[in-house]
Amino acid sequence: MVARTTHTVSEAIARQVVRGENARTFGDLLTATVLFRETMSPQLRVQGLLRGAHETGTLVADSQAGGLTRGLVQRRAEHERIEVGEGSFLQMMRTMHDGSVNRGIVHVPVGGDVSAAMMEYMQTSEQIVTMLAVSTQFDDEGNVCGAGGYLVQLLPEVGRGPLMVMTERLEDFRNIDRQLKEDFSPVRLRDELLYGMPFTHLDETPVRFECWCSESRLIAALATLDRAEIKSMIDDGAPLEIVCDYCGKDYRIHPSSLRGLLQKS
Ligand SMILES: [Zn+2]
Repeated sequence: MVARTTHTVSEAIARQVVRGENARTFGDLLTATVLFRETMSPQLRVQGLLRGAHETGTLVADSQAGGLTRGLVQRRAEHERIEVGEGSFLQMMRTMHDGSVNRGIVHVPVGGDVSAAMMEYMQTSEQIVTMLAVSTQFDDEGNVCGAGGYLVQLLPEVGRGPLMVMTERLEDFRNIDRQLKEDFSPVRLRDELLYGMPFTHLDETPVRFECWCSESRLIAALATLDRAEIKSMIDDGAPLEIVCDYCGKDYRIHPSSLRGLLQKS
């Protein structure tokens, strides 16, 4: 599986107003989460959370069926670097069809990055030997000029010969910064990865930045507040101004719309 996520990553970075190393790690997490979802559960919503060491912050990638993808950067301080590596961990969450959430968590390997963390995750939580590399490249002005990655699962059924060839070859693709810097073509990367091997092109799926926030979703989220608090907002009568953390969209919600929350509970 190969993905080009340049526009998705670029837009998510712009909405979160994040730069430098944090932007790079955030971009990598978005791509890795898209690859994970497309491989493991294309029909489900998948969230990838990278918790920085020493409580430096959390990065969230959120992707659902159809390729809609958004993200969130939570930092303690605006310019602080979210530390990845020792002491940080990666959590993957899948929302199942019945609404339950399936989670798994791994420590980011020492000296590791998002690619290393996701490989560790696949190995320990899914018991599948996986090679994965993601990369986010920036131009001189700090804008994303290329983002993407690949994920290859080494299933024992292919037999020892091809498995060894593939394992050796993937060593050369542990880092794909070069491929991403130049005019990135997912097809070319796939052809390089699978050179000399018979393969079948299965499918192509879209991926794009899009937030699925809405007034009714925001109201539903307010249901976690306690009844007294909701009641006082309704009595107060002032419109609630809420900004979506993912996309920055502004909402003005009339408190009368909250009445339904009191009836349900
Ligand atoms: Zn939104």
